[in-house]
Amino acid sequence: MNEYDSNRILDLANKIDYTVTKELSEANCYILNTCHIREKATDKVYHDIGRLKKNFRNKVKPIVLVAGCVAQAEGDILLKKEKYIDAVIGPQSYHKINETILKLEKKFKSINMTEFDVVEKFDTLNNIKNLDNKVSSFLTIQEGCDKFCKFCVVPYTRGAEYSRSIEELIQEANQLVDNGAREINLLGQNVNAYNYREKKLSDVITAISKIKNLDRIRYTTSHPKDFTEDLIAVHKNCKKLMPMVHLPVQSGSNKILKSMNRNHTVEDYINVITKLKKTRPDIKFSSDFIIGYPGETFEDFKKTIELMNEVQFINSFSFIFSPRPGTPAFNLDEINQNDAKNRLTNFQLIAQKIKNNYRKKLINKKTKVLFENKMKIGNQYFGRDEYFNSVIVESNEDLTGKIKNIKILKGDHNSLYGEVASNINETNYAA
Ligand code: SF4
Repeated sequence: MNEYDSNRILDLANKIDYTVTKELSEANCYILNTCHIREKATDKVYHDIGRLKKNFRNKVKPIVLVAGCVAQAEGDILLKKEKYIDAVIGPQSYHKINETILKLEKKFKSINMTEFDVVEKFDTLNNIKNLDNKVSSFLTIQEGCDKFCKFCVVPYTRGAEYSRSIEELIQEANQLVDNGAREINLLGQNVNAYNYREKKLSDVITAISKIKNLDRIRYTTSHPKDFTEDLIAVHKNCKKLMPMVHLPVQSGSNKILKSMNRNHTVEDYINVITKLKKTRPDIKFSSDFIIGYPGETFEDFKKTIELMNEVQFINSFSFIFSPRPGTPAFNLDEINQNDAKNRLTNFQLIAQKIKNNYRKKLINKKTKVLFENKMKIGNQYFGRDEYFNSVIVESNEDLTGKIKNIKILKGDHNSLYGEVASNINETNYAA
């Protein structure tokens, strides 16, 4: 979402003739768009400002803005502690970035823009042309969250759930496709909570799937509780919707899920997975896990491993619990950090083994890859298959924006490598 926001900030700043410089040191204005989901985000801000100060030691000080969730959560502290920062601007106020920059040009000082103006924000953005010209583009359809998981900062930094109008979304999706997008990834902190005048995420998917020249649709990130029957059904009915779902579970223990205030059980989660598999047998899953949440015993951890083995996630994102200031979990007693580290190592070894086994099965199989860009080295092109795996091939033909059948030859931790397979048996697709 920050990538989407950064691009919109750039679209806005273009209106007042600000563009991206080739070299960092050539800029006269810096916008640091930040994420507060993990610890150390604020340290990173101070670190980056330190680098700027060094670069500009003998030059005129540039305008410096801190945007995003760190600005929202710690704006006043940042302004007080680091005088080099001229303004902080929260994620629901970035539509005011131009007026902020213009004020700063006139030597205004210490501007704090952290109101929750989400309606005004999207109204402003609707009047700004989305200038993305990427083969795979993001489209924010929903923001904020009302779930209040005890460990999470999102309800405090992004505010309450807000869904954009479906008409706006269709318009922006058309614009993206006109600019060259062939894949759209629908974004929301709680994307399947989308609800605009009774229109749901499944309605958005169905509506944009009608756009000619749009080949692929994805969405992220979902909550198990909002996985309604219509969303499950659209996985069968919409061929453009990719058979890959990122569905965070966080823990395999009902006790921990309850103390996290996740509002679902492991059984609810498995129920959604089972229904999706029934609807679309080739579907696969990825998930997020918090290891070592306060109160997690070894028994609880074992249940997370059991869930991992049961679902066979092809990708997992796992972290040790990180207490975020301002969240209810911040004051809970952390478990022994050595235990947490050992559990994370064990968890990641198992996750990697599952991933490796899955990827081994892809070797010598064909997969459909949408190519996004030419890489810097030689004639290599980067793309993704239907399961969001990175695939790299060499080709003399410009593959950008094309979907090709690729025979996978080998793979490493990050990517699969293959060749364009024009004459291979059509039935040998990986699933
Ligand atoms: S559902 Fe997701 S975004 Fe919302 S509070 Fe929970 S973890 Fe945060």
